[in-house]
Order: sequence, then structure tokens, then C-alpha cells
Amino acid sequence: MLGREFLIVVCAFGVLLALAGCDREMQTSPASGVEAVQAEIAEPEHSAHPHFTLADEGQFREPFKVFDNLYFVGIEYVASWLLATDDGLILIDSLFSDEEYLDYLLGNIRKVGFDPAELKYIVLTQGHPDHYGQAFSLQELTGAVIGTGLGDWELIENDLWSTIAPRRDWVIEDLETLTVGDTTITFMITPGHTSGTVSLEFPVIDGNKSYQAFLAGGTSVRTHDPDVLNKFIEDMERIKSIEGIEVQINNHPFIDDLFARQMLLVNRKEGETHPFVSREDFLAFVDQRIGVAKDQLEGKMDN
Ligand SMILES: [Zn+2]
Repeated sequence: MLGREFLIVVCAFGVLLALAGCDREMQTSPASGVEAVQAEIAEPEHSAHPHFTLADEGQFREPFKVFDNLYFVGIEYVASWLLATDDGLILIDSLFSDEEYLDYLLGNIRKVGFDPAELKYIVLTQGHPDHYGQAFSLQELTGAVIGTGLGDWELIENDLWSTIAPRRDWVIEDLETLTVGDTTITFMITPGHTSGTVSLEFPVIDGNKSYQAFLAGGTSVRTHDPDVLNKFIEDMERIKSIEGIEVQINNHPFIDDLFARQMLLVNRKEGETHPFVSREDFLAFVDQRIGVAKDQLEGKMDN
């Protein structure tokens, strides 16, 4: 579906990143403030990964409410979700490390009616640079507690992308729960995309109704290693077996056409069920990810 086009985009960005790397080495002008600190950070070898700035077409997105307690505050390529409780805010993922994204995130949190000073926790679903970019800055600014899985803490600390690693506040364990005010999140460690990928189950509110939502922190496996693929399939089966999940949330909008679903929400008529609520869609999605992983196991796919 998106597979081939996406790979081409990823490859194209790999080339751009290689070129950008050359540019960086040639820059000799002195930088100031945060730039100076960032310039001093040694740029280690890191995995090829797509990168976008706000100037890239389509990346800037107005933030929007999806449920009464869940807001999209991310960009076209990657999500950042704000989960509001009656005793503070939880941010899920923090975009890229470019300085512009700090103001963008803070601005978006304010635009949807909250004070960034109320951030209590930041959960990173993965240790890839499109998810942990502003973690250090937000930790410094708000004192929010940052958590991800052990494998992904190691990934962040060893594969840093133009930022400083956040302090390792919290190593999230499989089936750990976190309660903030009226909201309880249950975490699952679901390796495959990375070794400590964090998935979350949490309630979402729509008027006087509450539903259980699930955010799978990594929906693709980037290896043919049968052990990794089998564990991923096992975890996806485990997710399917959780009763009562009716809402699917993702950490990349392209995974489930978030912006098309947003329009369903905009056009929703009085009295209609929230368009994101569908246990069938959730199960079909998980089954589809299992199918892809099985094809990889059987060598039917390149990636
Ligand atoms: Zn990733």
C-alpha cells in the first residue's frame, strides 16, 4: 500500500541526510545559545531515518481535538499526542530535535487550551529521532518525567540525533500502569520496530462516553530476524486478545490516514457515534500488521 512509495521517500531522505552531513562539517561560523551547545555535541553515526522541517510541504498542521481528553499536536509525518487528565498533562512523543519544534509543540499545547507547565509525563514510544527530539528540552523546561522502554533508552543514548539525551527518569516495564488524576494508562513493551517499543492503552472521552484506545508504538518490523518477527507477531496477538479496545490511535498519521479520519470527525453529525470508535477496524488493523510480519518471515517482502 504505502510500502514502496514510503521506501523511496526514506531512501531519498537518506541521500539528503548524507548531503546535510557534509554541510554540517563545512560550517565554521560560531553559533550562540542553544545552537552553540548543540554544535558541541559530537554527531555519532546514526541509523538512516527520514527527517522533515516545518518548511517541508504539508508538515505544519494545526493541532486538533480527537477526543475530549486527546489532542493531536504533531506534524504531517509524525504524531505527538496530548492526553489531558484532571491532574496534569501527558505527552506521547516529542517530534524531531530541530529547535523550531520546541516552539511548535509549546504553541500547539497552548492552542488547544492547555499550559505546557502542566506537563507531568512524556512517554516516548520509540528511541527513534522523530519521537524523542524535544524530550531533553521539554524535560529541562517543564520538569516532566520522561519514560520509554529499556532498549529504547539505550537506543536514544547511543544513537543521538542532534540533541542531548534526556535524563533517564523512568524505564517503562511491560504491563506497568500509570495513574494521573482520573486517567490510568497501561503500558506494554512490544519490541519489533525497536527493542523497547512502548505501546499504550488508555481511556478516551467523548461527551458522556468513555472508550478504551490503544496506541501500538511500532507497527512495522525493520529486520528479517525470525526471533524478532515471531515476538512481534506474538505481541500483536496479545494486543488482539485485550478485551474492550475500540479506538485505534497511531504515532504516525500515514499509518491510518489520520487526516482523512479527522475530516470524518469534522463532518460528524449530532448524535452520531465518534468515527474513531470501531473494534472491527482496530482488529483488522492489527491483523494486517500480523500479515505483513508473516510475509516478512516467509521472505515475501524486502522490508
Ligand atoms: Zn521508528
